[in-house]
Amino acid sequence: MANLVNDCMKLGFGMMRLPRSADKSIDIARTEKMVDAFLAAGGKYFDTAFVYEGSEEATGKALCARHPRESYYLATKLNAAEFACKNAEEALAEFETSLQRTGAGYFDFYLLHALDGENKKKYEEYGVWDYVRRLKEKGLVKHYGFSFHDSPEVLDEILNEHPDAEFVQLQINYADWEDARVQSRRCYEVATAHGKPVVVMEPVKGGTLADPPERVKRELNAQNPNITPSSWAIRFAASLPNVMIVLSGMSDEAQMADNLATMKDFQPLTPEQQETIVRARTALNTYDRIACTACKYCTPGCPMQIEIPRVFSTMNHYKMYGDLDGARRSYAFRFKESKASDCIQCGQCEGACPQHLPIISLLEEVARTLE
Ligand code: SF4
Ligand code: SF4
Repeated sequence: MANLVNDCMKLGFGMMRLPRSADKSIDIARTEKMVDAFLAAGGKYFDTAFVYEGSEEATGKALCARHPRESYYLATKLNAAEFACKNAEEALAEFETSLQRTGAGYFDFYLLHALDGENKKKYEEYGVWDYVRRLKEKGLVKHYGFSFHDSPEVLDEILNEHPDAEFVQLQINYADWEDARVQSRRCYEVATAHGKPVVVMEPVKGGTLADPPERVKRELNAQNPNITPSSWAIRFAASLPNVMIVLSGMSDEAQMADNLATMKDFQPLTPEQQETIVRARTALNTYDRIACTACKYCTPGCPMQIEIPRVFSTMNHYKMYGDLDGARRSYAFRFKESKASDCIQCGQCEGACPQHLPIISLLEEVARTLE
């Protein structure tokens, strides 16, 4: 299978959760240091998107303006969803905006963002596939593909309709591998059967697998207490033979150091370690939790400014670690302005959620439990 990236570490730097300053803007000085450390360790692949707020601009400053163009690969994404654009003209104009924000000159990898069975029609209607083909002919895009959140059957359909797509970006982690809703394993198998290399997103499932609940940690530590939970998660994804890059949305220096230590001299999981992962997954499945990956696609359009992923993260903390009083205190402290019960059920967020979560009813559950 053609691997489009052969000359760098298998770890990609996801620029979606960059470090923030006290005023909540992206901390460019710290991002620069992380970019430099990543390149120095042998990483080359950076991933951003038109809809990651401030990310393309920060990538432009910390990476593109400071390093030779051939020393890195840059991926970004065009989003045809309603929260990103109103019509075909606005959708196609995202490419030029991304070029201006980053100053990259061209993109090594260009993706149609978060395709599923519903929104794929919009990408057709707006002529996005033809547009990216033309961009490639002009050399402004080296490779094009798409990121995906739906069933293996829909993935198969899209790859049959667009056999020219050169790669696929999939949500793969050990928690979702056999999950009945996400179906990571079957999606991976479909991409592989079509001969498309895979870029992995969410290998630590929005941070859940970086700090898993006690029974999961016990399984991992029993095999080797010196391997961190994130390292287990990233190595699981990177061990899949058809994976060309594993993206990690690193937001501080410690995460980066741990990820670099894992991937610098990457060794795939041994059969014995694969069995440990199976036991960790079984242990994780004994906990009920909200499958939010903290991607934040739902928040920009919320008329009540509810910080949905943070609300769900607080609820998950309670679900996985217990301590109802502590969870209620933490919730009251974190959500003084906009609470779960402020939701007016407009439904905007549910249309934007790539995980297809029933956000409104989940917020009702949070309000009943934590308010
Ligand atoms: S349904 Fe509720 S949480 Fe979702 S966007 Fe509307 S007000 Fe916000
Ligand atoms: S609720 Fe959905 S859209 Fe919002 S952050 Fe979580 S996974 Fe992303």
